[in-house]
Amino acid sequence: MEQYDAIVVGGGPAGLMAAGVCAGRGRKTLLLEKNEKLGRKLRITGKGRCNVTNHCSAQEVIQNTPRGGKFLYGALSAFPPEEVMAFFEERGVPLKTERGRRVFPVSDRAEDIAGALGAFVLEQGVHVLQEQALSVAVREGKVLGVDTRRGRFGAKTVLLACGGASYPGTGSNGDGSRLAKALGHTVSPLLPSLVPLVEEGEFCSRAMGLSLRNCGVRVTAAGKKKPVYEDFGELLFTHFGLSGPTVLSASAHLHPMEPGKYTVHIDLKPALDPRQLDLRLLRELEGHKNKIFANSLEGLLPQKLIPLVVERSGIPGDTRCHSLTREQRQGLGELLKDFSVKVRGFRPLAEAIVTSGGVSLKEVDPSTMASKLIKGLYFAGEILDVDAYTGGYNLQIAFATGRLAGGQL
Ligand SMILES: Cc1cc2nc3c(=O)[nH]c(=O)nc-3n(C[C@H](O)[C@H](O)[C@H](O)COP(=O)(O)OP(=O)(O)OC[C@H]3O[C@@H](n4cnc5c(N)ncnc54)[C@H](O)[C@@H]3O)c2cc1C
Repeated sequence: MEQYDAIVVGGGPAGLMAAGVCAGRGRKTLLLEKNEKLGRKLRITGKGRCNVTNHCSAQEVIQNTPRGGKFLYGALSAFPPEEVMAFFEERGVPLKTERGRRVFPVSDRAEDIAGALGAFVLEQGVHVLQEQALSVAVREGKVLGVDTRRGRFGAKTVLLACGGASYPGTGSNGDGSRLAKALGHTVSPLLPSLVPLVEEGEFCSRAMGLSLRNCGVRVTAAGKKKPVYEDFGELLFTHFGLSGPTVLSASAHLHPMEPGKYTVHIDLKPALDPRQLDLRLLRELEGHKNKIFANSLEGLLPQKLIPLVVERSGIPGDTRCHSLTREQRQGLGELLKDFSVKVRGFRPLAEAIVTSGGVSLKEVDPSTMASKLIKGLYFAGEILDVDAYTGGYNLQIAFATGRLAGGQL
């Protein structure tokens, strides 16, 4: 049996950071990754551009982490976004900060981030092996090593950084929660977060492919006055319903999901208040007096939305602009400020950007990432029951928890 000081399971951002840090402390470190390539998910992040972190304080990362934020205080304070940025820039990956303080490599290539981490582990002397961890060997409450098809690799410390269960094709297929459960850890149900929404009916599918760059998004829950989520930005109509950054972020707030419980209200004209919009409509209608009403909307709305808005407005499409009543015009204004879509549910976990749920935080020490149940066992990254909004926060969490654990192994 080959003996190591530490074994890291999972070559994603959390595991790579942890393995490099651990080996950098002079520890003989083995990294087990079942895929041929390291960081497969990392390479597709941010649509291939990798939103590597968010240029904000540790406290703000916590505020953007609806589940498990407080647990991360120690990890994020020790390795805040500024330091994550310095880590990559010092390794030859210049970064830039975009809208919403989202940080990307200047090259717009996620490959460069994955490459820098790959180089980091090799340079620190980590032994990388393409192998799946089948189980963690434990005796009398202490870690002994990791069992694989090649046999057992011995180590007194093992870090599970196997990710969640979304995009299973990348390797994050729920192995982590199975390994943790087998060791007696509580794993809260794995649910999709940052996931597109399926509509009731087939309304949005008629505008499939339409992307609204600047719209207001408000989500309400049945029986509640206060919106559960409000945002402004990009939204996408798809064959099943709604997607895009604002919708993905909203989804993190929609637990528990029930068919018909939530409604997405889209403000198609967020820059205009109702009075300004009414004046704008008046101008448009006057300018097209003899046109039919449906054709007067071209200056106001994307082409694909016009038939949907006309249908919802209840105004016959062939009504001449000059014969539209004041009530009809005001109703149209209200519709443009509140184009609502009823939600039936989430798209499946496999299509989610992150997994909500995971190893219970009650059983992990936030100052070390160590298991409170088994000596020598550690956790980092998305395997934990933490999940954050879009904006680079999830990778920031993976790096910070990975680095903290790597310093202990
Ligand atoms: C399409 C998409 C885009 C995203 N974009 C962003 C973004 O721009 N910014 C952001 O902050 N977050 C983004 N995320 C989320 C982010 O990618 C994850 O939160 C992050 O990758 C989690 O890191 P991790 O190291 O914990 O797990 P993972 O990246 O999932 O890595 C886990 C690794 O463990 C390996 N593994 C699993 N089980 C075993 C086993 N038994 N033995 C050996 N190896 C195993 C897997 O093969 C995998 O390589 C995105 C996610 C997706 C799906």
